[in-house]
Amino acid sequence: MTSATSTHLAGTCRATGSTQHAVETHRPAEELDGAPELAVCGAVVRVGSAAWDGGADDACPACGG
Ligand SMILES: [Zn+2]
Repeated sequence: MTSATSTHLAGTCRATGSTQHAVETHRPAEELDGAPELAVCGAVVRVGSAAWDGGADDACPACGG
């Protein structure tokens, strides 16, 4: 399922440095790259420019992986 009104980017957990979390954003990825943001599950993550992939091996289950 995808939404036409929001975008989810992949964010890296600051604690583990590996788990990918979903970050909902309405801003362009270039404005968020590297910035600390709140993930869907509540974790503070560092947002990258990659789209969220809930099916990835390292995707956070709480974020919908
Ligand atoms: Zn998460």
